[in-house]
Amino acid sequence: MNFTTTIIKKAVQGEVLTENEVTVTGVEFDSRKISAGDLFVPLKGTNDGHEFVSKAIENGATATLWSNDPATAPEDIAVILVKDTLQAFQALASYYLLEENPDVIAITGSNGKTTTKDMTESVLSQKFRTYKTQGNYNNDIGLPYTILHMPEGTEKLILEMGMDHAGEISVLSELAEPDVAAITIIGEAHIENLGSREKIADAKMEITTGLAPDGLLVIPADEHLLTERVHSLSQTIETFGIQSGELSASILNETKGATVFSVDDNGYQIPLPGSYNVQNALIAMAIGRWFGLGTDEIFQGLAYVQVTQNRTQWLKAGNGADILSDVYNANPTAMGLVLDTFAKLPTEGRRLAVLADMLELGEESYALHASMVDHINDQDFQEIYLYGEEIKGLKVALADRYPTLAVHHFNKEAKQQMIATIKASLKAEDSIVLKGSNGMGLIEVVEALQE
Ligand code: ATP
Ligand code: MG
Repeated sequence: MNFTTTIIKKAVQGEVLTENEVTVTGVEFDSRKISAGDLFVPLKGTNDGHEFVSKAIENGATATLWSNDPATAPEDIAVILVKDTLQAFQALASYYLLEENPDVIAITGSNGKTTTKDMTESVLSQKFRTYKTQGNYNNDIGLPYTILHMPEGTEKLILEMGMDHAGEISVLSELAEPDVAAITIIGEAHIENLGSREKIADAKMEITTGLAPDGLLVIPADEHLLTERVHSLSQTIETFGIQSGELSASILNETKGATVFSVDDNGYQIPLPGSYNVQNALIAMAIGRWFGLGTDEIFQGLAYVQVTQNRTQWLKAGNGADILSDVYNANPTAMGLVLDTFAKLPTEGRRLAVLADMLELGEESYALHASMVDHINDQDFQEIYLYGEEIKGLKVALADRYPTLAVHHFNKEAKQQMIATIKASLKAEDSIVLKGSNGMGLIEVVEALQE
């Protein structure tokens, strides 16, 4: 990218404090990431980014946005004065997007956004120059950041759109103006903020606010909260599902490392377990077809996809046991699906599960944790480790339904004790699944088991 201060000023409707024109070649809001020639964007969060401008200058920033008192602005680099640096950052992203004009694909949903984004990019990259959200940069800061880091000449831009509250996806959709949008699933994530599954569906449907009128919307066939909300839309609607919907898959074989399935008599495979990952793959397929990709290209894109870490990832324990690590985030839908998937997979030894609190579930939290009992039984699972406060609901439910199943509960402070207990029990031929909210830090348990 090449932005002169005059262009930035126009794009963000700001005022340039310095006289000589400067060109910037990159944009960063973290002063530590600034390299020579970058524009610094001081954002206001828990810290005020303005306080780090000297660090940005030290690292080579040639210009900065500025919304504090102009009298305190630095004098050695170009300064573009704006009312709100985040809004200016977003406006600059809009400007760059209009200038580059790639087709934009937007992915939202309660679970599976990152995986679906990775799969969609892998498919579209078989034919087009693509760029996608890096990691999980899916909010009002991450989205403009992604756009501004898109290489020139990108033909298809795949954006993950996340939310905690109603209204947030609208902002992202209006900024990115997608040509194609997809909703992976309506779950219970963030029900604390939103109130009900209906409200969650409304919030996900905000992805259509900026969607091109002649664009495509991809939704799960068996989610009536979505199918009943799309009737009045002008866009093409495509539905997908496991043996349901317009794009309907049959699962042929599921192993630890791969799932084989067919759609319209063509076979496909993904290097991941779980029927939910087939659903994610169907979205990538629908989008690939919309952009004219053939069966072979879609096959290649799905078979060789590289997904972002710790989302249903197989690892080896130090003693050789198989670890299914899914510790990046958790909510009831995802935890239930992972347990169902794990219970079906072959293991030479026993199946163990380590389940930690799922955060932000609001008033229903205890009951939602308890409901996981429907995804556990004393035939498929031999030992259950529960970690945290909210998960006590499940402890009670398990004791009630499977009185002889070995269930161990540990409080938040007792993580090391839990690790020691698991290590003492885990045998080389066992398989162990770990799932919980990121905030519970199960990644430490995974790492300790890998040692
Ligand atoms: P976040 O909100 O943290 O960005 P995300 O929506 O990007 O999450 P992923 O990171 O792709 O979701 O997947 C997180 C976990 O959700 C997976 O490891 C898996 O357990 C579960 N998951 C993935 N896809 C689906 C799906 N289609 N339906 C339900 N659960 C899913
Ligand atoms: Mg994500």
